[in-house]
Amino acid sequence: MTLKTGDVKAKDRRYVWHHLTPYGEKMVVTEAEGCWVTDSEGNRYLDGMAGLWCVNVGYGRKEMAEAAYEQLKTMPYYPLTQSHLPAIRLAEKLNEWLGGEYAVFFSNSGSEANEAAFKIARQYHRQNGESDRYKFISRYRAYHGNSMGSLAATGQAQRKYRYEPLGPGFIHVRPPDSYRRPEGRSVEEFNRDCALAIEETILWEGRETVAGVIMEPAISGGGVIVPHPVYMEEVQRICREHGVLFIVDEVICGFGRSGQKFGHHNFNLRPDIVTMAKGLTSGYLPLSATAVRQEIYDRFKEQKEYQHFRHVNTFGGNPAACALALKNLEIMERERLPEQAERSGSRLEEDLLPLMEHPRVGDLRRFGFMLGIELVEEKAGKKPLAPDRVARVLAGCKSRGLLIGKNGDTVAGFNNVLTLSPPLSATDEDVEFIGNTLKQTMEALE
Ligand code: PMP
Repeated sequence: MTLKTGDVKAKDRRYVWHHLTPYGEKMVVTEAEGCWVTDSEGNRYLDGMAGLWCVNVGYGRKEMAEAAYEQLKTMPYYPLTQSHLPAIRLAEKLNEWLGGEYAVFFSNSGSEANEAAFKIARQYHRQNGESDRYKFISRYRAYHGNSMGSLAATGQAQRKYRYEPLGPGFIHVRPPDSYRRPEGRSVEEFNRDCALAIEETILWEGRETVAGVIMEPAISGGGVIVPHPVYMEEVQRICREHGVLFIVDEVICGFGRSGQKFGHHNFNLRPDIVTMAKGLTSGYLPLSATAVRQEIYDRFKEQKEYQHFRHVNTFGGNPAACALALKNLEIMERERLPEQAERSGSRLEEDLLPLMEHPRVGDLRRFGFMLGIELVEEKAGKKPLAPDRVARVLAGCKSRGLLIGKNGDTVAGFNNVLTLSPPLSATDEDVEFIGNTLKQTMEALE
């Protein structure tokens, strides 16, 4: 369907305040199927970012729409101060996916899931008589959300500095960015160093003041920074040793993106709290969750009524969103999408490997079906490629029918990582198209 787009675009510019990106003419997406989106002018693009890293099962799944519709007809809303069947079923299913015993608190967005995690962690320590534990440690370059606590946990100056002061008590440490490790350190040594720096921070801050460490299994939005397994496993050991809760943000890495059901399944981990959103519904409806280990949840159940978790979320765990999420997980299981993600990611990586010879490509990183290509002025100095040239790559891909992302931190001078996070359902032809288009675009850059 081609629309008369002049009017639509003029109204869009006038009335819609867009997220994040500069004010100007936007693509108005009108239809989507599989990995492909169509705009109001009839142009088709392969969506190499699955929207905002979220449309894991791909577009156009009618059975998901039907699951939501059926639920809306039967019982469209009831708050989780009481309960409803879709929430119970989904929480049980998430336990199966997590492979452990977790109590699940539902919200609507990743930011809210992280806020709930911070509040649960602080209250948990108070109920254990450790009321000085209020600080959280996270990494520079990580993104954890847009609200005053989750943004405080975020380690990207560009998203924060106009809105400060944010929630107090958040401390940042160096991410395990192996590409920029000090000379003479192996990847494994450097990753261990980064983990031990967290232990040092806990001790310097006073271990009795630290409530939690929050991290993604691999930093996604900050430029696809994939840790060596020793890093994650050391961090978990350190958390356990110092009585600090280990919070894993699976908002992007969860639901098959990493090649496993959850990103942390790529390591030998059992987090205390797991936060999730995006791929939970593949973006079809808003829903997020904070899964908390039963032992921690038990400490809340034992308390007197006024000491319960005083946190409510009107729309959190909406029945239609839960019913749709269940269908989403059913599709992922039926089509074995986590396994397919690993296969497609490794094929795409192999296809892109020749790009490592390109003078502007410094590093190629992958976590399942999420890839980052770090662009530099020259390989030796690793100076980030100038923003206008990075923008040219994005525009070049778009003109060839491929939408990709770009992530990093403008303020810190790193906004030079091309990102790819396609729907996990991408066909072999889709994967081939992504590889070919990127290679052609990079060739044209020189
Ligand atoms: N955590 C991570 C790792 C994210 O990437 C995001 C969003 N990009 C969030 C949290 C926040 O999610 P939301 O935008 O749904 O609030």
